[in-house]
Amino acid sequence: MSAAREHPSHRCPRCDGPRLAPHPAGFVFRHRVDCALLAAEDATAAADAERAADAGLPGFYRRTTDAERVLLEACGVALPLDARTECYWLTPSVRRRRWAGVSLDAAA
Ligand SMILES: [Zn+2]
Repeated sequence: MSAAREHPSHRCPRCDGPRLAPHPAGFVFRHRVDCALLAAEDATAAADAERAADAGLPGFYRRTTDAERVLLEACGVALPLDARTECYWLTPSVRRRRWAGVSLDAAA
């Protein structure tokens, strides 16, 4: 497994951690352990996994979280207020997210 590369300019606005790109899980940052956005992202990932497991879903759409919106804005992406996040799983443990009209990495 090769080491994840850091995006040259996409950084977490709270902890300055870099976005890892490309990354198998898609939209991922290397946050500091005490970063509030990391805590928010971890909570969302757990909730997403629970929802998918409970409903037996391969994926679903939900409201975009404030943390996702802040991190996407740090990457130059401004989402509409009613933006929705599509969650789907590459494997049972690898969740990916995407947003309509957003392409952060052409090759990803
Ligand atoms: Zn952070």
